[in-house]
Amino acid sequence: MTIRTRFAPSPTGYLHVGGARTALFSWLFARKHGGQFILRIEDTDLERSTTESVNAILEGMAWLGLDYDEGPFYQTQRFDRYKEIINQLLEQGDAYHCYCSKEELDDMREQQRANKKKPRYDGRCRHLTSPKEGVQPIIRFKNPLEGSVIVQDVVRGNVEFQNSELDDLVIARSDGSPTYNLTVVVDDLDMGLTHVIRGDDHLNNSPRQINIFKALAAEPPIFAHLPMILGDDGARLSKRHGAVSVMSYRDEGYLPEALLNYLVRLGWSHGDQEIFTLDEMIALFDIDGVNKSASSFNTEKLLWLNQQYLKSSTAEHVAEHLCWHMEQLGIDPAQGPDLVSVAELQQERAKTLVEMAANSRFFYKDVKEFDAKAARKNLTVSSGEILEDMFNRLSSLAEWQAEPIHTEVKACSVAREIGMGKVAQPIRVAITGNTISPPLDLTLELLGRERTLSAIRYAIDWIKAQLDDQKQL
Ligand code: GLU
Repeated sequence: MTIRTRFAPSPTGYLHVGGARTALFSWLFARKHGGQFILRIEDTDLERSTTESVNAILEGMAWLGLDYDEGPFYQTQRFDRYKEIINQLLEQGDAYHCYCSKEELDDMREQQRANKKKPRYDGRCRHLTSPKEGVQPIIRFKNPLEGSVIVQDVVRGNVEFQNSELDDLVIARSDGSPTYNLTVVVDDLDMGLTHVIRGDDHLNNSPRQINIFKALAAEPPIFAHLPMILGDDGARLSKRHGAVSVMSYRDEGYLPEALLNYLVRLGWSHGDQEIFTLDEMIALFDIDGVNKSASSFNTEKLLWLNQQYLKSSTAEHVAEHLCWHMEQLGIDPAQGPDLVSVAELQQERAKTLVEMAANSRFFYKDVKEFDAKAARKNLTVSSGEILEDMFNRLSSLAEWQAEPIHTEVKACSVAREIGMGKVAQPIRVAITGNTISPPLDLTLELLGRERTLSAIRYAIDWIKAQLDDQKQL
């Protein structure tokens, strides 16, 4: 059997991290077993579905690298097929028209509540033999009245539902449009899906769907309902816990593989291993290793993972993602040192790409303003002299390379009988505007002679201007 899984989001918002975890597990399971992974956009709710949301889902999938073998299929393009199946169910006697008005249904539920019964449709239109004039009916599935349905769930084991608890669900609205439980079954069937991996908020839909599968004389797929993801306060993860959209993680400077690695551990583990390459995930993941209990989202851990990935990825890879962040800062990385070399210098010292981009800005944009505290401490009269000295030394360097640059910093500190930090720090402030940079010699090599010297000159002039201002006061 070739494994076929799917991710079937409704395009009513962005791609949520919970959705991304579902997509990842389905994708991993297909990849592990040499199967196929399908993307299906469940856009039948015309009022809530939007093109922006479809695009956000596609963008999120692409950013995460979750490639699909088939799709995206759009349910709105399959209405004829759903109609065909609805007619088939009607003809077989497994579905019927229901003419109940909203008021009638409200009354019915009211009475059930008054009798301390669970409100549910009582099937009063099941046996109608002729249509009610002037009423546009909805269509209901004739759910079996007796017996039970067992959802054989890979994660939760067997979950039994009594048919008497399931009412005759609506499969077509009065305008003829099909509803979720119907379209899912038709698609899962037509698309030959072997496994349905989805959030456990759908567990209650599964017995209804299984009954429809049975009415269509089809074998239901194997189900796996994934445990919930909770926020740090124990409530279901939602917007109020901060970023929940996948793309906001890109915006906040995460690498997609760090997020994937984080997501794979939400509900699945392999011993106490925390870091998994994508290949390892594919090799080690299996759906029966998913645990039942809910897991909590922990941003600190994600941040830690991101830092590990920034450190261990190739500089080329980091640069690819850093490029987007530089562009967000209005920087064209083509106008300055090779971004791969910048990434190589920075990748050890940033937790996020946002931080790395901010700290790499100076490589591409001349610094015209200094952090007040950094300047007060490091751009003083005496450091002006050091900068002048270093300007001369660096101007006459034969070779613009880290080693000779380092030698000059050292020589300057020896000549002035001061620590190397006292020489390095004013230069660092001159070129970065602040006190943070990778090792100075490597940084200057990459920045280039011309830009280094002009930054030092600018800082010297700035110190002089400050002095003049003070004199005038
Ligand atoms: N479209 C449903 C949702 O976004 C998922 C349906 C399914 O996985 O069966 O919640």
